[in-house]
Amino acid sequence: MKKYIVLALVALLALVSGCMSSIPSPTSIPTPDITPPELVSITAHLNDGTEKSLEKEGTKWTLQLTKGDTVSYAEAVVSEPVKLVEGANPVITMSGEGFQDVVHSTITVDSQNPTKLRIIPNPGYATANVAGTFTLTMASGVIEDYAGNRNTKVNLTLIVKEMPTPGPIPTPVTSPTPTSTLSQEELNQIKQYGHDKEHLVRWPYGNIYVYDYTGFPKLQTVFDKWNEVLEGKANLVLTNDLRKAQVKVMIDNSISSQCGWASVTWEDFKIVSGEVKVTDYCFSDLAVYLHEFGHILGIGEHTSTGIMASIATGSEIDPFAAKLMQNIYSLPIGYNFP
Ligand SMILES: [Zn+2]
Repeated sequence: MKKYIVLALVALLALVSGCMSSIPSPTSIPTPDITPPELVSITAHLNDGTEKSLEKEGTKWTLQLTKGDTVSYAEAVVSEPVKLVEGANPVITMSGEGFQDVVHSTITVDSQNPTKLRIIPNPGYATANVAGTFTLTMASGVIEDYAGNRNTKVNLTLIVKEMPTPGPIPTPVTSPTPTSTLSQEELNQIKQYGHDKEHLVRWPYGNIYVYDYTGFPKLQTVFDKWNEVLEGKANLVLTNDLRKAQVKVMIDNSISSQCGWASVTWEDFKIVSGEVKVTDYCFSDLAVYLHEFGHILGIGEHTSTGIMASIATGSEIDPFAAKLMQNIYSLPIGYNFP
């Protein structure tokens, strides 16, 4: 009898557990799409058939053009299929260098492939006529994915650089006769601020050819100021012949300094090449270029004030830096400091 009851209980348990197992396990509820569409890449197509991919750093896109370049259209790849938001103005606006929120280009979604945007510049802005730095903006809420998530604001920096125009090529002074009529104090200053503590390091007399990738419009002004200081012994000359270039100037946002960076290489105390890097942030800052070319020419260390101070300001070469440079160029290369 007892045995029978136990069996019945077991049967009941089996029934209960059978029932339990027949309860459908919850199926995965679809997670709602809350991710807004994002631009994955942007490529500018120029009318000469070349393409330029925009560089992305953080959330900022950058495009570098040379004055005169014409963009036929740009194509942006989006992270998911999108459509234009109804009622939104599908345009990219531009500001900078005297422009304020002008309508630069129009955005359409590729009808064949809704993950692609086609950005077509308005006729007046297809050709980069003005050199400088511009901000292009695609407002938030212009495109949306199929779940209705709308894009956040997209910022692009457009840098239009000048074609390097070679300046007048001055005639270098021939057969220089360096004088060493410097005072001990002046020699000590060169030791302190020059590139080497024991020997004089400088460029040989003559032209120093510079190739500028940055298209800084006032580079010739920078050269004129230093060339005046150098009194014809050495001359900074802009060239568009890369093979001839001894100094290269470029934009580099990865340098450790906020603004600018310069380096030179020398052989037997004769400088043979140099490199200047400036960040986007300081592109167009005359003081930064003046300062970096001070390093290129021969001042290795920072002075406490003036254009060669670690934070350069102003648009002139101060008398101390000018005299220091003149003294450097009054001594023979490799001169052994007493
Ligand atoms: Zn410096």
